[in-house]
Amino acid sequence: MCRHLAYLGPLRDLGTLLLDPPHSLLRQSYAPADMRGGGTVNADGFGAGWYPDGATTPIRYRRAIPIWADATFAALAREVRSSAVLAAVRSATVGMPIVDTACAPFATGRWLFSHNGMVTGWPESMVTLATRLPVTDLLTLDAPTDSALLWALVRHRLTAGDALGRALGAVTAQVLATAPASRLNLLITDGTALAATTVHHALAVRAGDGGVLVCSEPTDSSRDWEPVPDCHLLTATPSTVDVVPIPTTTAEES
Ligand code: GLN
Repeated sequence: MCRHLAYLGPLRDLGTLLLDPPHSLLRQSYAPADMRGGGTVNADGFGAGWYPDGATTPIRYRRAIPIWADATFAALAREVRSSAVLAAVRSATVGMPIVDTACAPFATGRWLFSHNGMVTGWPESMVTLATRLPVTDLLTLDAPTDSALLWALVRHRLTAGDALGRALGAVTAQVLATAPASRLNLLITDGTALAATTVHHALAVRAGDGGVLVCSEPTDSSRDWEPVPDCHLLTATPSTVDVVPIPTTTAEES
């Protein structure tokens, strides 16, 4: 089960954020500590997206190899500084392709998105929800995976005007209604704010020093980490964190 991380705050280099902490995302790729629902390592690929200083559109790097095997990324990460980052390491769900384009973050415009989990009954369980998307969105999915379709569903709501948290909450509720027992830890940022859901996977948040860091597992032993309870929606900016139960969808929306 993948692990993911998002950061908003003072400029930091990607090495400091992703590679150096004692339980960094790098370490979580080969020695994760809280893999609920199976999987042992996150070695099927990785990705990182960041906003160059002053930019509103992110740059993204993703590859279908273990993060520890990419020396180019290790060197690049030392040189890249950003105040908004979203990164993930992937353990592909059985049957899903292992390709660069199936790795998070998924990106469109100013958004970066990641999914940790799996949709039960895939793909049949998602036919009704998928049918409501524009055909072009289905023809241009990054990969034939549950995560790529979830991104298309979230993006459709964002482009219609939903805020980050509302889009994640609504899609999570809709998917749980049609595919119960799915694991849906979603994570998104637009470079200025972030939102995350917890549905049957771990997530922790640490706020302070003018920034906020969320990660599947705490990256160090700081007491400032707070676990996010299951079935909750977190929204945050560098100076605010809000955690509420995932709103249930209305019959009309589901
Ligand atoms: N189901 C998604 C994929 O295959 C996410 C996998 C995960 O969280 N382990 O990419």
